[in-house]
Amino acid sequence: MKFGGLDTRCVHSGNYIDPDVGGVNTPIYWSASFIFPNQKGELKYPRHFNIPTQIAVAGKISALEGGDWGLVFSSGLAAVNALFAAALRSGDHALFQDGLYGGTQHFVQSILPRFGVMYDIVDGGRPADFQAAIKTNTRLIFVESPTNPLLNVIDLAEIAAIGRKAGVLTAIDNTFATPINQNPIALGFDIVMHSGTKYLNGHSDICCGALVGRRDLFQPILAAAQDLGGNLDPAACYLLERGLKTLGLRVSRQNENARAIADYLSGNPAVRRVYYPGLGSHPGHETAAKQMRGFGGMLSFELDCDAATARTFAGNLSLIKTAVSLGGVESLLCFPCETSHAKVPPEQRLKQGISDTLVRLSVGIENVDDLIADIENALGKIR
Ligand SMILES: *Cc1c(COP(=O)(O)O)cnc(C)c1O
Repeated sequence: MKFGGLDTRCVHSGNYIDPDVGGVNTPIYWSASFIFPNQKGELKYPRHFNIPTQIAVAGKISALEGGDWGLVFSSGLAAVNALFAAALRSGDHALFQDGLYGGTQHFVQSILPRFGVMYDIVDGGRPADFQAAIKTNTRLIFVESPTNPLLNVIDLAEIAAIGRKAGVLTAIDNTFATPINQNPIALGFDIVMHSGTKYLNGHSDICCGALVGRRDLFQPILAAAQDLGGNLDPAACYLLERGLKTLGLRVSRQNENARAIADYLSGNPAVRRVYYPGLGSHPGHETAAKQMRGFGGMLSFELDCDAATARTFAGNLSLIKTAVSLGGVESLLCFPCETSHAKVPPEQRLKQGISDTLVRLSVGIENVDDLIADIENALGKIR
């Protein structure tokens, strides 16, 4: 039986109950060696992505995204690796949206040319630009929505339709939205990628990634994944599965909290600009409202001060910690120019709108009044 509700899927989908024991949680199969052949004649090996602890959590993510299969990796970038290795070969061309996660941008620019893969980076605001950039050898369109850290939104149904018409594989980094807020496969995408390090696990204690997709794409991606490695170890699989059980609860609270903080900051004279797709003033608001069920727990804002004062503001916060990464139960703040986009050359970074005073906030599940009081107190000290 396939369950309908996302919260139900969070709790139940994929769970493996060992019939001999009956534990309600998926066992951690801490084994790299398995009797061969087993009763079903299978060869099990962690790097084949086929041990029960891996299959269970991958099945849960796939059920949440509405895919036919899922694979879990040791990081989001390992998932990107497997996808690109499966989809692209020397002489191929790929299209990437501008403003992708900094690590993905660096991967594209530093690794792909070495393997003879050509690419263009396309302004994500206008899907027609993707259409115009497609060449006869284009094999992949890869986008991210909302983007990190400016929360740019791209029309996913339009991108998927462009890809399908041209026979080009479409893939999306759905890390920021999470499957609770957005399901790109239902909008026509072929592959969804996640940095599970963020919302999927949600507790800032493991690094992991995932790919979910349509049935016909499974074999080439599994083959590439097995060649590259990057499988997730059983203990981390277990933690990820445990974290996913509360994904729906966490994300709906994070949607609410982020909305309230975005409203608070929007009315504050110390803040020059707020980036949150839930705000009517956000350029991507209409598209986001069309394709997302919630606007997410990420927001960014530009303080009306110099770079040093912005760091003083961050240091004045007590509840909200300055730290890398995002999507956990605790609220975290960072300066993207120093973290996610540190490897992007400064001119390119500024062109993308990522200044030295841009603050990114990953909103947690705390009481929102406490979060706003913390921000108000820190702003008061720099005024
Ligand atoms: C963190 C992140 C990644 C990279 O994932 P890792 O788990 O760090 O490898 C990719 N995309 C987005 C949007 C991210 O936030």
